[in-house]
Amino acid sequence: MPLIENIIRPDIRALAAYHVPDSTGFVKLDAMENPYALPEQLRAELGRRLADVAMNRYPVPSYAALKAKIRDKLGVPGGFDVVLGNGSDELISMISIACAQPGAKVLAPLPGFVMYAMSAQFAGLEFIGVPLKADFSLDKEAMLAAIALHRPAITYLAYPNNPTGTLFDAGDMVEILAAVGERGIVIVDEAYQPFAQASFMPRLAEFGNLVVMRTVSKLGLAGIRLGYMAASAALLAEFDKVRPPYNINVLTQAAAEFVLDHAAVLDAQAEAVRAERTRLSAALADLAGVEVFPSAANFLLIRVQDADEVFANLLRRKILIKNVGKMHALLANCLRVTVSTPHENALFLEALRASVF
Ligand SMILES: *Cc1c(COP(=O)(O)O)cnc(C)c1O
Repeated sequence: MPLIENIIRPDIRALAAYHVPDSTGFVKLDAMENPYALPEQLRAELGRRLADVAMNRYPVPSYAALKAKIRDKLGVPGGFDVVLGNGSDELISMISIACAQPGAKVLAPLPGFVMYAMSAQFAGLEFIGVPLKADFSLDKEAMLAAIALHRPAITYLAYPNNPTGTLFDAGDMVEILAAVGERGIVIVDEAYQPFAQASFMPRLAEFGNLVVMRTVSKLGLAGIRLGYMAASAALLAEFDKVRPPYNINVLTQAAAEFVLDHAAVLDAQAEAVRAERTRLSAALADLAGVEVFPSAANFLLIRVQDADEVFANLLRRKILIKNVGKMHALLANCLRVTVSTPHENALFLEALRASVF
């Protein structure tokens, strides 16, 4: 169609649309969602709170109350600011746009979160991927060499990493922060922080180029779309200029403020998921033909003989996980499964036992 060829960038035309499979009727273990709902009484209270929201008004774009709650309840150190995003996806996009000078580059270990490379491409930035080691730890020497060669404006380190679950060595990360120095920012993406119980947030004061990015998605609020990043106020003021002014809607704002007042409920759910991770990981390790990797997140990466076949067998048994076997050479025959409730984990294990031979 000439119209499309005339106006749409060739690199966009060449892309396949981001595919989200229809999960109706499946045990859904593909997207790292928290399987637990809020307790009944809190849900009723939330409903009353949302009923009072002025949906006829635009949000107040400073989001002062929500930001104060995030700083207070989620451990942002004093003197540092936060910027909110419609999910961390939007924060990544804002960072890319703000840094997209001619020749600017983005660096991240691979396999990693796909949005880093996609967002770089959309903004016209060159993406440099540095392979992890075979055990999914950081290849520190290769990272340092790539930093010296490419001088990236943006370096992403997911802590822990998706889709491997690896919690990178903090000492290696500090060396990367130092090597990047004043030439670039290092985004430590802590989407899975509630399950890792390790964080660079308390270390913001040590590194002027550090941005700590988080989301409430994996904590149990994936549907409301809220991410935040913490860094020095001067740096964040620049990113805030490219933020769409009303990017957080009033319902999300009210729901997040409400839930943060009851953060202990989500903390307890995360603790239950961590306990299940330990149990599920041990059960998987006992299965012949299954290799399970250490994970500090709410999912486990496993390797089987034939990932395509196991994935298809699980689908037939109405279990949806993620086949990451074709994502990167290091992930050959790997599958990623979300840690869920004891019941859903048992369903997965039973189906997996019947699917591997
Ligand atoms: C899931 C995930 C996110 C979350 O993105 P949202 O847009 O906030 O839902 C960010 N980073 C990583 C590494 C993730 O796995």
